[in-house]
Amino acid sequence: MAEIFDPSTHPHRRCACLAFFLNTHNQKCSFDFFADNPLTNEHVIVSPHRNKRPWLGQVEPPQNDKLPQYDPACYLCPGNTRAGGKKTEVYEHTYIFENDYAAVLPPPMPEAPINPHHLLTTKPIGGDCDVLIFHPRHDLTIPRLLIEDIERIIEEWIKIYVRRGSEEGIKHVQIFENKGAMMGCSNPHPHGQIWSFTNVPTLPAHEMANLIDYSHSVHPPSDAPRGPHGKPCLLCEYAHTEVNIGGTDRVVVKNGHWVAVVPWWAYWPFEILLLPYRRHIPSIFHLTPEEKTSFADILSKITKRYDNLFSCSFAYSMGIHQRPIPLSSPEETDEDDVAHLHLHFSPPLLRSATVKKFMAGIELMAESQRDITPEQAAQRLRECSEIHYMDVSEE
Ligand SMILES: [Zn+2]
Ligand SMILES: [Zn+2]
Ligand SMILES: [Zn+2]
Repeated sequence: MAEIFDPSTHPHRRCACLAFFLNTHNQKCSFDFFADNPLTNEHVIVSPHRNKRPWLGQVEPPQNDKLPQYDPACYLCPGNTRAGGKKTEVYEHTYIFENDYAAVLPPPMPEAPINPHHLLTTKPIGGDCDVLIFHPRHDLTIPRLLIEDIERIIEEWIKIYVRRGSEEGIKHVQIFENKGAMMGCSNPHPHGQIWSFTNVPTLPAHEMANLIDYSHSVHPPSDAPRGPHGKPCLLCEYAHTEVNIGGTDRVVVKNGHWVAVVPWWAYWPFEILLLPYRRHIPSIFHLTPEEKTSFADILSKITKRYDNLFSCSFAYSMGIHQRPIPLSSPEETDEDDVAHLHLHFSPPLLRSATVKKFMAGIELMAESQRDITPEQAAQRLRECSEIHYMDVSEE
C-alpha cells in the first residue's frame, strides 16, 4: 500500500496555490504537480529526508565575533582614509558616500554600439553606487544596534531612494546588504549599499511583471488588503494568508505592521521574506512613522534570531524590493504602485555556523532544491531567543 504523504519527510515540489490562480499561468499550472514561486515562476524541490545524511562536504571557518570597536585599518571607521585616498569623515550615526570603485557610472552614457549580430547585443548602462555605513562602531551589526539606530538606517534608505530615484535617467534604486565574508563582504564594519540603474534589473523586473499580471487577473474572494484602485495584490494576499489562515507555520515573527516568513517557495535553508501585511505599501517612502518604527523593531528581531540560530554573526544577502523609483509624493499613484514593499534575506548557512549551502549541480543545471522544509526552518528560528547571544551575561 502506498505511504501517506508527509511533507516533513517525503520529497516534493512546492506548489504555490497563488500561481494556480494566476490566469496567465493556468495553461501550464496543474494543481498537483507544479511548484512555483509566484514572484518569479520558479520551482523548488524539497527533500527533507536528506537531512539524515552524514556531512562530508566543505566546512567554513567560524566567523570571528571578537572585533575591536575601532580598527585603524578599516576604511569605514570614522576618520580613516579609504584606498582611493578619500577620507571617511568622523560621523556620529550613519555615513553615506559614493563607492570609490563604482560598478556603474553616472549618465550620460555613450551611444549604443552597432551590434555585430542580432544575438550579440549591447546597451550602455549608467547609474550610481553608494555605500551607507550603519554605525561608527566597527564591531556592531544590525542585530546589536538599538532600535533608534536602525530607524536612522531606514531614514537614510528613504533619503537615498528618493534622491537617486529622482535623478535624470534613473529607473531603479536597489538597496542591499551583504553581511559576512561568506557572502563576499570584504569588510565586517556594518554597512550596506545602494546601486541605482538606468534600467530595471532582471530580478525586480521579473517580479514586477508577475505582480502586474496578478493585479489584472481574477482570483477567489479574499479579505486581504488590495493594491492601488482596489486591484488584487499578490503580496497583500500572500502576507494575509500567512498571518490569518490557520495551519500556516512559516511565520517566524510578526509585529503590528510587518510579518517575517520562511516563504512557501524558499530556496535558501533559512530564507526570510519580510513584508508589511496590514495595507498595500509600494515603497519605503510610503511608510508612516509608526510603520518605520515597527520596521526597525522587526529587523532587530529577525537578525537577532539569525545570529542566535548558530551563535555566530549570521551571514546573509538582504535586498529591498519596492517601486523601482519613487513618485514625488506618496499620495500619487501609477502602474508601478502595484509593487508591494518587501525584503528578501538569503543566508547561505545550512546546518551549523560552518556548513554552507552551495548553489551547484542540480541548482545550476535543473532546479532549486532544499533539504529542510520551510516550516522546519521557521520553527528553528521561532525557537531562537530575541536577546542576542553576545548580550547574554556569562554567569
Ligand atoms: Zn570599521
Ligand atoms: Zn500589496
Ligand atoms: Zn522580491
